[in-house]
Amino acid sequence: PSSNREWQARREAAVVQGVGTLLPAFITRAENAELWDVEGKRYIDFASGIAVLNTGHNHPKVVAAVRAQLEHFSHTCFQVTPYSSYVELAERLNALVPGPTPKRTLLLSTGAEAVENAVKIARAYTGRPGVIAFKGGFHGRTLMGMALTGKVAPYKAGFGPFPPEIYHLPFPCDYLGISEEHALTALEALFAADIEPTRVAAIIIEPVLGEGGFYVAAPGFLQALRRLCDQHGILLICDEIQSGFCRTGKTFACEYAGIEPDIMTLAKSLAGGFPLSAVVGKEAVMNAAKPGGLGGTYAGSPIACAAALAVLDLIEEEQLNQKALAQGEQLKAGLHRLAERFGCIGQIRGPGAMVAMELVKDGDATRPDPDLTKRLVAEAGQRGLVLLSCGVRGNVIRFLAPLTTPAPLIAEGLYLLEQSLEAV
Ligand code: PLP
Repeated sequence: PSSNREWQARREAAVVQGVGTLLPAFITRAENAELWDVEGKRYIDFASGIAVLNTGHNHPKVVAAVRAQLEHFSHTCFQVTPYSSYVELAERLNALVPGPTPKRTLLLSTGAEAVENAVKIARAYTGRPGVIAFKGGFHGRTLMGMALTGKVAPYKAGFGPFPPEIYHLPFPCDYLGISEEHALTALEALFAADIEPTRVAAIIIEPVLGEGGFYVAAPGFLQALRRLCDQHGILLICDEIQSGFCRTGKTFACEYAGIEPDIMTLAKSLAGGFPLSAVVGKEAVMNAAKPGGLGGTYAGSPIACAAALAVLDLIEEEQLNQKALAQGEQLKAGLHRLAERFGCIGQIRGPGAMVAMELVKDGDATRPDPDLTKRLVAEAGQRGLVLLSCGVRGNVIRFLAPLTTPAPLIAEGLYLLEQSLEAV
């Protein structure tokens, strides 16, 4: 079949409904920031497969690295017969991630696995059970990932029970009406009433909420969290799975607050479209798990490692941080212009190219409009622009175009967005 409609019908008959559909466009080809579907229709990609393609679809350097690897071998399992690219990637991530040396790296396949393993390592090192996460946070769809995730529907509903000793704090962001002081008081109250700090292994935080709506954590809160963790022997885990690898205009978002986590979780744009994730952290912490306790059949696949090594070269070669800042400015300027015409556009925010726009009713920032958000995503899709929504209230459009997107394509995307806003 060569129509999206036919493939969608077959999909509905064969694939579980628990995996949602944003846009029923079955893709056959992609290049940098453009996609083409089975009907030959072209789309501008403002989603990057959920923040995976900071270096664009099929970057020639990533393709060449993967091809070269495939000509040699595609799989051995690192814990059976190892290979050098895993080691080389670990060395490079140890040097790239902020924090004191020496560091160690564990490679896995998905973001959720990175989070699971970060918690395992934190528990092994501290000998403590508790983990504190944040309301509005998202950490994956495994049982621990869901337990740490703040939002219930649709991620957690019906899937419990979840692992115990997980606690949630309000996420410290002025725009959410939660001051740094409020969040710190909530942490003190948690320590006083629910779990003593000596039972807490780790606090996990996204420096910028991804699925939760691109809210930036107050830098002062992150700094206070760093001090409190040191004071109580708690490990600080920064989940940079969505914000990492230059999306925010810094290689990692935590650099804006000047803090160094004990452990960082990474995935998504690490390997330019290949499934790969990493847990990177302080050597003493990371080595707490005994040999055999960590790993996985596909963990750190040689194909994904080859892609990731190419991606790390591209950070400098493509000047991804500068490109993120320039793209962010272009997007924000365009969105502010649109906000003058369309009263439904609320706050526009986000560091670098991690840009979000709220949709609200009657220009009232306190009245989110999730229905309009859904309609806008569908309308833009029809017009050839892939948009993604997010946010605890479902009314945020997040912009995640490849950082390598040329400025004229961003402008064309903004034009399609304008037409879509007119139509909904
Ligand atoms: N952590 C964060 C911050 C994420 O944004 C995501 C995915 O959206 C995950 C964890 C889970 O990653 P994955 O979907 O690769 O399991």
